[in-house]
Amino acid sequence: MHIVVLAGGVGGARFLTGVLAAAPGAEVTAVVNTGDDVTMHGLRICPDLDTVMYTLGDGIDEERGWGRRGESWVVKDELAAYGAEPTWFGLGDRDLATHLVRTRMLDAGYPLSDVTAALAQRWQPGVRLLPMSDQRVETHVVVDDPETGRPQALHFQEWWVRHRAALDARSFVQVGVDEARPAPGVVESLRSADAVLFAPSNPVVSIGTVLGVPGIRDAVQAAAGRVVGVSPIVDGAALRGMADRCLPVVGVEVSAQGVGRHYGARTDGGLLDAWLVHTGDAATVPRVDVRAVPLLMSSPAATRDLARAALDAAGIAP
Ligand code: GDP
Ligand code: CA
Repeated sequence: MHIVVLAGGVGGARFLTGVLAAAPGAEVTAVVNTGDDVTMHGLRICPDLDTVMYTLGDGIDEERGWGRRGESWVVKDELAAYGAEPTWFGLGDRDLATHLVRTRMLDAGYPLSDVTAALAQRWQPGVRLLPMSDQRVETHVVVDDPETGRPQALHFQEWWVRHRAALDARSFVQVGVDEARPAPGVVESLRSADAVLFAPSNPVVSIGTVLGVPGIRDAVQAAAGRVVGVSPIVDGAALRGMADRCLPVVGVEVSAQGVGRHYGARTDGGLLDAWLVHTGDAATVPRVDVRAVPLLMSSPAATRDLARAALDAAGIAP
């Protein structure tokens, strides 16, 4: 059995742990957002790929939800002592080794998909870890400059991490997306998988970015298996994250129904066959099998049961 999961960082990583627990024998491919990727201090950083890799490889700092367990921050402090910008991004000492290896391989000409596979050799995440694309696609956020009032574009990481998404966004721009192609294996996996699952990742800047790569949306629509989404919105709010800051920007109501309708029914030119909402959340999405199940990934068992419900909605019993 082959299961493909579209994923961002924290929500995607947790959901993937559930899929692995629910379907121990299955082949699982994770197609991960790289729109958050950024170059800092000369190093290429892939936050969502790393969150998935560290989480599944048992190296994540569980409390923070990102970065390495047992992290130290000597290099960050030393960079700050030089006044080297940016100082607002947390680059841990252990984490730095990942970015050093990645940057060196990219500079030597290896595509990101090969680099990711090489890093995964160490972490053994138990899934085939694929970036959405080998080409650079970077999400930027257009805001009103607080001083001049004029529109200004910031890298997504600066908006998210430095400003905690507090500046009102006018729009999101995927810089480079027109020239991007799906990474090797992405389209083939989506088309042939027995099930395609959307993790409860940010629908705009995680799943939306993946779907924006030319060819990926079409591959989901053409998937042989059923396509099942999991709502990241529970009781009208985003859990861990700021999806509520992103959805209104693209005109989507912050509710399980709003996100479900945004993805739409596959039979109507949309993407979903089934949509999981949290117990007690009402949602009507025309021509989509909407199911209410517990969506809180609060323990390994709860996360596994959520993945089971998604596989059940996909019509496959692991
Ligand atoms: P990021 O890239 O690290 O921001 O992570 P993702 O895009 O993968 O996931 C962030 C989204 O996960 C947030 O918008 C949350 O609403 C959602 N999320 C986090 N924890 C849970 C959970 O326990 N259950 C559900 N259904 N969604 C969650
Ligand atoms: Ca992310």
